[in-house]
Amino acid sequence: MKITDVQAIYLSLPTISNRSDGTQDALLVRVTTDSGIVGVGEVDSSPLAAKAAIEAPMSNSITSGLRELVVGEDPFGYEYLWHKMYQASRYAGRRGLFIHAISGIDLALWDIIGRALDTPVTKLLGGGFRNRVRAYASTLFGPTLESTADRARWCVEQGYSAVKFGWDPMGQDSDHDEALVATIREAVGPKVDVLIDAGQCWDTKRAIQMARRFEPYDIYWLEEPLSPDNLAGYAELGRSTHLRIAAGEAESDRHSYVDLMDRGQIDVVQIDPTRTGGLTEARKIAWAAIDRGKAVINHSFTTDINIAASLALLASIPEAPFVEFCVEDSPLRTQLTLEPFVVEDGFVRVPEGPGLGVELNEATIERYAVRV
Ligand SMILES: [Mg+2]
Repeated sequence: MKITDVQAIYLSLPTISNRSDGTQDALLVRVTTDSGIVGVGEVDSSPLAAKAAIEAPMSNSITSGLRELVVGEDPFGYEYLWHKMYQASRYAGRRGLFIHAISGIDLALWDIIGRALDTPVTKLLGGGFRNRVRAYASTLFGPTLESTADRARWCVEQGYSAVKFGWDPMGQDSDHDEALVATIREAVGPKVDVLIDAGQCWDTKRAIQMARRFEPYDIYWLEEPLSPDNLAGYAELGRSTHLRIAAGEAESDRHSYVDLMDRGQIDVVQIDPTRTGGLTEARKIAWAAIDRGKAVINHSFTTDINIAASLALLASIPEAPFVEFCVEDSPLRTQLTLEPFVVEDGFVRVPEGPGLGVELNEATIERYAVRV
């Protein structure tokens, strides 16, 4: 089998607002083969910048767009192709954008292999640890304490046993930050796990102060309290609180994750298969975390392609406390596949269909595709 083309399809809602909501646009990747099998992947990044990373022509042997590196190659060679893309983009790549873009192609390769073998990707990864994963509802703080409380209660009514709120306005007023946490805890009661995503908002000392203020509310983890580059601060924070510290969504390949784990000493490693170079790299990061005794979870705030890839990863590692399940109601989040993932009794089932196990809703793609 040979790869015949790579298409990067930009999807966007008609209006993009300046909030921390990754469901407003998406980059879909389709890899076609001479066998007729088509694989799908996704990139969570700046969609048009990642599209350019895929489509750009070669400038020299270590500065190349990704598409021409894989066309004509055998899709079963995922490890070889990952290395080829990494090496041939290393002036502009190595971290960030190009690794994000590699993710879309890599996920599509896994989808192709699974479809060719009529086997779910979970099985290709050696999975079998679980066939469903406990979901936490992932959302953003509301504009008021009251709306945040309403949102928290809604999540519990939907059957979630864990909720996460994040980003704005955290970091603007310490008393209000604590009030947000207190409000959510009171709204959901003592038995629901509460996760807080600070959204990279504090310096080290303030993060230590806020972690201590949050401790009485029994939060499950405190996510991204610091700048991703403040690894010394992460280590200091970790020594100063008994709260679990979570991070990872700002990283891309395994080198940066190893830094985050070894220098930053975080407790929970969040891996986004649509940013970290796809499943080929995500599973290496996961096992590096497991070897260090750290918890592994996905990061996902985009489409069901991401959820499918995340579930495949989480079913193939020994412990998976949660799957992050974004509950924003963007149609790109809820309508991109023909059978959207659903939460039953607080759990999401690992897909059992061939490949990633999702079929795209062409009507949604047609509606939100932006030709550039
Ligand atoms: Mg986050």
